[in-house]
Amino acid sequence: MRLRPARTFIVEPNLPGPLEPLRKLSRNLYWTWNTDAAALFERIDRELWRATDHNPVRLLQLVTPERLHELAEDAGFLEHQRRVAEALEAYLKRPPILTVEGLDRGDVIAYFSLEFALAECLPNYSGGLGVLAGDHLKSASDLGLPLVGVGLFYHEGYFRQEISPDGWQQEVYLDLDPATLPMQHVLGADGKPVEVSIPFDGRDVWAQAWRIDVGKTPLYVLSTNIERNAPPDREITARLYGGDNETRIQQEMVLGIGGVRLLQALGIEPAVCHMNEGHSALLGVERIRAAMEQFGATFAEARLPVTGATVFTTHTAVAAGIDLFPPDLVRRYLAHTWQRLGLDDRAFLDLGRTRPGDDGEPFSMAVLGLNLSGYRNGVSKLHRGVSQRLWETAWPNLPRELVPIDAITNGVHLPTWVSHEMGELFDRYVGPAWRDDPERANWMAVYDIPDEELWRVHEGQRQQLVLRAKQQHTEDLLRRGLPAREIEGGRTLDPGALTIGFARRFAGYKRATLLLRDLDRLARILGNAERPVQVLFSGKAHPRDDGAKALIREVVQASRSPEFRGRLLLLERYDVELGRLLVAGSDVWLNTPLRPLEASGTSGMKACANGVLHMSVLDGWWWEAYRPGTGWAIGRNRVDDDPEAQDAFDAESLYGLLEDEVIPLFYDRDAQGVPREWVRRMKATIVTYAPRFSTNRMVSDYATRAYAPAAAAWHALRANGLERAREVAAWLERVRAGWNAVKVYAVEDDGSEVRPAGAPVRVRVQLYPGPLQPTDLKVDIVYGRTGAGRELQIEAEAPLAFLSQQEDRLCRYEGSFAPDSGGRVGYAVRVTPCHPHLPPVICTGLAHWA
Ligand SMILES: *Cc1c(COP(=O)(O)O)cnc(C)c1O
Repeated sequence: MRLRPARTFIVEPNLPGPLEPLRKLSRNLYWTWNTDAAALFERIDRELWRATDHNPVRLLQLVTPERLHELAEDAGFLEHQRRVAEALEAYLKRPPILTVEGLDRGDVIAYFSLEFALAECLPNYSGGLGVLAGDHLKSASDLGLPLVGVGLFYHEGYFRQEISPDGWQQEVYLDLDPATLPMQHVLGADGKPVEVSIPFDGRDVWAQAWRIDVGKTPLYVLSTNIERNAPPDREITARLYGGDNETRIQQEMVLGIGGVRLLQALGIEPAVCHMNEGHSALLGVERIRAAMEQFGATFAEARLPVTGATVFTTHTAVAAGIDLFPPDLVRRYLAHTWQRLGLDDRAFLDLGRTRPGDDGEPFSMAVLGLNLSGYRNGVSKLHRGVSQRLWETAWPNLPRELVPIDAITNGVHLPTWVSHEMGELFDRYVGPAWRDDPERANWMAVYDIPDEELWRVHEGQRQQLVLRAKQQHTEDLLRRGLPAREIEGGRTLDPGALTIGFARRFAGYKRATLLLRDLDRLARILGNAERPVQVLFSGKAHPRDDGAKALIREVVQASRSPEFRGRLLLLERYDVELGRLLVAGSDVWLNTPLRPLEASGTSGMKACANGVLHMSVLDGWWWEAYRPGTGWAIGRNRVDDDPEAQDAFDAESLYGLLEDEVIPLFYDRDAQGVPREWVRRMKATIVTYAPRFSTNRMVSDYATRAYAPAAAAWHALRANGLERAREVAAWLERVRAGWNAVKVYAVEDDGSEVRPAGAPVRVRVQLYPGPLQPTDLKVDIVYGRTGAGRELQIEAEAPLAFLSQQEDRLCRYEGSFAPDSGGRVGYAVRVTPCHPHLPPVICTGLAHWA
């Protein structure tokens, strides 16, 4: 018989008085990037620290009272504790580093994401999207930006990966108890847990929240696993990306609708909401509903301030990369919601479609996000163009390059990802500013680090990695029950060999097996006794992605063959901790996506910040970042429509680079054993990429380009009971109704065929405004070179001034522009609606061209 308890409760550890500061320290994730804080916990009990996946709350629950009493009398420990506690207090009290004009009235930004990767003991993430979200919160904290995170708590986590003896990934689910994790139940003024309800398919589902403190930034995570819900509803938030489409829409309702309601219950009224990918797009719907109720407004009126104050970041490069829900599923779950918005099902479903009214088109959460946000961005410069192409059908009146999607390239939180030892080196040479204010730190000082010192620190990282890889791999193979000769193989990893790291989610487009395309050639590369090379793989496949699981199996099978044993292996259970070791201890970080499917990629940024040379296809961030003399670009810019041909081309380039450049350079040592040219490239890598690809830079970009204008729109449109929103909504309705009658009649210039560069071109335009007033319209020239097919490549624009309106209502506009580039230049006239109270972040999508 299995006995279940009648009741359970939490036993808080009895900390001896002098150790009381540990309670607070254990509950703030500050230790995940402050290595002195992490070292303090490790000092309590090294074994336990490891066994708890670096979870200080659990550590304090499990450590013996004897050990605690010992520590309470250990002067060295107490001194260490005092130092860390003071550092945390100083950090929490520090004035903001970032001040942004327009974001100074105490505006709160709420950042919504389905996953956050913050620490190995909180396995509520699957990959890069979650790591980015976690790093965003950490950098907001560093910068002092008033931001709160909103997410879900999955009590079974993502999953723990195990590989079966024949190489297939097995998923093992966890059973996480919030009471043993660094998170706190959110209680209301009455001391009871705050609960929010979400209307679901004819019933209410309830969620409770926990708070995770990330430095200064609180992250609220919602869970439906509470007594009050029926058993099936308790499972809604059980697993990240678990279940089917129905589970997904349920989770996204809890996140988007429940998240907005939670903030309201806590008295937090965010000025700006940031949707990290379309999963959270229902937040826009819920905010509109709340504003309609609060102000007695219509959907169109309430939509304006909400849209203006919403930021949407897209991370996919394919339209189906984000959830698509069948219309009937949406009808079942959201009917209640749209009734309260005063919409019918068609009007609501159209918010998630690019072809309004087409009931065959599924409801896309990405399109919903695009439609309910004012500022939108892709996550690298290349991805911006990809996104504009992907979503241009949503703006049928705009040329592709004017589709309103900006680019803010991702980054990484440097103090989290730079190894302890490398970080100390930066402290000494660059100064501590590299941690909190990396854009202003003096990175050039990296060139002052003696080659020997940098190389010694890096070799130390590689040795730590190899040691860990050997231990873990041996354990993995023992568990798989493999023969002894294979297990021995794992022990032959070489701490001095050129080590190539490849770790990320396994997904087809990331092409983990590109390196295995020509096994004989790879065997010659790895098998050279004088210049040994080894490859470490790691990564999980989504539980339902059988194609990706087959790739894992291919790597595992290769690792078992005699010529690769001990030279190429896959480490199970990729997580942020293993990630940190890999990006610091590898010599080369390999990335081989099928271009342009990698929206940004961030693991390469982590590697570069550690001086690891990045070798990647020119995709994602590397396309805009790569500079010769640092890492390597695989395959140049070529893109072949045939993926097979592209694979062959990229693999050839990859092998060639390894054979001709990477390996010779790595083994070109001087008398001290230092590879001088390699070290020079390491330094150039750190200096070139670390400051630019940090999340501190990224969050500053969001603050100035997205949050500040969004907050401005929010305040302007909401003031006096939505006064301006109502005015703009009424105007917009009038403009939309009359828009088709607006006609450009004549465009004139002096007609010259050839002009000197820099000479102004005067343009006169006559247009018929239909029922609209001249003040409703804005007329601009857009100009640039004309390229292939005589298509205009818009490079700049110039406004035309309104001159007069004639008896027959024709309006005249005039102005000039001066192209300064040579070649064939063209221009076009654009007419758009204009209203003094329409915030610049809101694009109506209306335009006429001539
Ligand atoms: C950084 C990181 C990722 C993202 O890696 P990409 O190369 O950008 O795909 C995924 N998982 C973990 C655990 C990471 O630390």
